[in-house]
Amino acid sequence: MSSIIEYQWIKVYIDQDGIEKFIPQFRSDGTQQFWHDTAEIHPTKLLIAPISIELANRMQEHKIPGVAIPLPVYSFLLKSDDIVSAYWDNAIETSSHYFCTTCNTSWKHLDSTKWAKCPQCGEMDAWTCLRCGRTIENTKVIRNQRGEVNCPHCEIPYGLTRERRLERIQDIIENTDYVVEVANKFKITIRQNSVDVISL
Ligand SMILES: [Zn+2]
Ligand SMILES: [Zn+2]
Repeated sequence: MSSIIEYQWIKVYIDQDGIEKFIPQFRSDGTQQFWHDTAEIHPTKLLIAPISIELANRMQEHKIPGVAIPLPVYSFLLKSDDIVSAYWDNAIETSSHYFCTTCNTSWKHLDSTKWAKCPQCGEMDAWTCLRCGRTIENTKVIRNQRGEVNCPHCEIPYGLTRERRLERIQDIIENTDYVVEVANKFKITIRQNSVDVISL
């Protein structure tokens, strides 16, 4: 299981001289500052911003899985009496990849209209008909509307036997969710492809 961090929070506040200052979650050397370390500061704005390539590299030097991905910046304008907090939450996402048992290559099969084929050695699952004894070419192996794979040569529908040479392997990826909560107002969860807002 792997987990990545693609966003950081940045507190923006006005200091006693009226100058706008920033407190980022990750310092330029890649180390983390904790939200409660600067709890006494009242941000006027909170940003949830993607991580730069330089910062991601510095974070990785400290074994923090920062990744630079081009993502939008979320900006929260706050009132002086807002009680705000930002924290991480995790969500599990699953995907899969194929593994070729002939040459030990792993890859992602993205075109679901075609049967998987090893990009290294060209291996595919082998289909045979036990009724007519033929080995069927993969391009002629078609799943019907009922999800069955029948012999294209036999007139009476007859299911093909599949010899698996490619294994489908389930991957588990742990995604980091970014939560911003303004007490008694709302809670926002930011993910790579979606944003959920819950009013409190
Ligand atoms: Zn192969
Ligand atoms: Zn047949």
